Amino acid sequence: HSENRPDRNQFAPQRGHSMSRPGVLQDSYNRVIRDLRISITDRCNFNCVYCLPETEEAANFYQPVASGAKRPAPVPGKLLYPWKPRSQILSFEEITRVAQVAASLGVDKIRITGGEPLLRRGVESLISQIAAIDSIRDLSLTTNGTHFPRLAKCLKEAGLGRVTISLDSLDRDNFKKITGRNGLAEVLKSIRLAKSLGLTPVKVNAVIIRGLNEHEIVRLAKFAMDEDIIMRFIEFMPLDSRQAWRRDHVVSGDEIAGRIQSKYPLTRLPADNPSGTSTRWSLGEGAAEIGIIAPVTQPFCGNCNRIRLTADGKIRTCLFSHHEHDLKPSLRDGSGTAELAAQLQQIVLKKEPGHRINEPDFVQPARTMSLIGG
Ligand code: SAM
Ligand code: SF4
Repeated sequence: HSENRPDRNQFAPQRGHSMSRPGVLQDSYNRVIRDLRISITDRCNFNCVYCLPETEEAANFYQPVASGAKRPAPVPGKLLYPWKPRSQILSFEEITRVAQVAASLGVDKIRITGGEPLLRRGVESLISQIAAIDSIRDLSLTTNGTHFPRLAKCLKEAGLGRVTISLDSLDRDNFKKITGRNGLAEVLKSIRLAKSLGLTPVKVNAVIIRGLNEHEIVRLAKFAMDEDIIMRFIEFMPLDSRQAWRRDHVVSGDEIAGRIQSKYPLTRLPADNPSGTSTRWSLGEGAAEIGIIAPVTQPFCGNCNRIRLTADGKIRTCLFSHHEHDLKPSLRDGSGTAELAAQLQQIVLKKEPGHRINEPDFVQPARTMSLIGG
């Protein structure tokens, strides 16, 4: 599968100085962090095959390669990762404090995620606290869409700017196979509702997996045209809870583009921001847009400007980090804003040059996407 394996160090950034620059979050490769992703819960009501495949159905999907999986088969009713007790989860006040400190250091983009963020009670009050931070120019949320219809209006009123909704299949049965839940109708409703409320641009994420939904790529692209949303096709990354990911599950960004192009003309659009993770394309004759996110075959680490805060208060400087930096003690021991800011700057200096998915000695991180906050 060499076509899925890019040149090793082609995308690695160059090391710069290792002193923190006053007033900003700059890492030791001169990347300036502007984007903070905050996971507000480790819980989820889905069991997506690529994220939390703790169901028999998901195990069956991976069966032919189960010998490669590094985790035991799922046991019905028993979670591989029990939810964290509430005491370990950051309060909204603590999360807002981190957001304020990050904003004072130049972060201007915040995404609320999870787990499923809309499972956390009172999420709209967190949105309003973060929306009140002046310098945050882009406040968004990623959701699987199941609880969105109930909450959409108050999220909008609280100051949410836009949403990203996950949808990997337009087929009822395949949707169930991928997520473990019957939820297609609800998710479609959420997408339309987000549009009508002006939580735009509405982006829709589809993770494409060989043998599971690759046959739906063209249909999903057409969905972008019909519904006037931005469909984003994402390569499957090694972040699933069973560590069952294998390179041959990955449908490369090039293959995704090729499949769409065989049906509709695709024209490359300029990047909307230099740290964007997706390549943007206009689709067909109209104004429809798709994005292709290819972290496995076309790493974009050199331009990465993100860090993540987990629900239990750890900063992750990369999705694939093996080390996390705990902010919770400082948040709970009365540390002042200046101390927190200095701590965040020190953490950012440790940001890895890039993921090592394509290195022969790559080791998948212990935490899954649902625990990290995608
Ligand atoms: N539960 C919410 C949802 O599904 O939209 C938010 C959290 S989820 C972890 C955020 C995004 O990560 C989703 O769009 C999901 O498709 C993506 N994701 C999860 N696991 C992934 C993986 N192994 N590879 C690529 N994307 C993944
Ligand atoms: Fe699926 Fe999101 Fe839940 Fe992961 S966190 S299982 S991607 S719905």
